[in-house]
Amino acid sequence: MPIILYNGGKGITMLKTIKINCSYCDHGSMDITFQTEDFAKWQDGAYIQDAFPYLNADEREMFLSQCCPDCWEIFFPDPDI
Ligand SMILES: [Zn+2]
Repeated sequence: MPIILYNGGKGITMLKTIKINCSYCDHGSMDITFQTEDFAKWQDGAYIQDAFPYLNADEREMFLSQCCPDCWEIFFPDPDI
């Protein structure tokens, strides 16, 4: 169920929250809220960091690969730690 915001000059912004479940474990999931127009930009080929500048790296990774931060840590351990 999208949330509709009315924001001055830009007209109507539609916000949508989706729950993404991790593909690699059964406990990782994240609720991600984004603007539907940004989703359209991403579908049109924009880089995810340009389309969703307000999402953090973990949220963007969930979007791209359905991989939660815990699993990401297992697959790609930080060599500095
Ligand atoms: Zn996971």
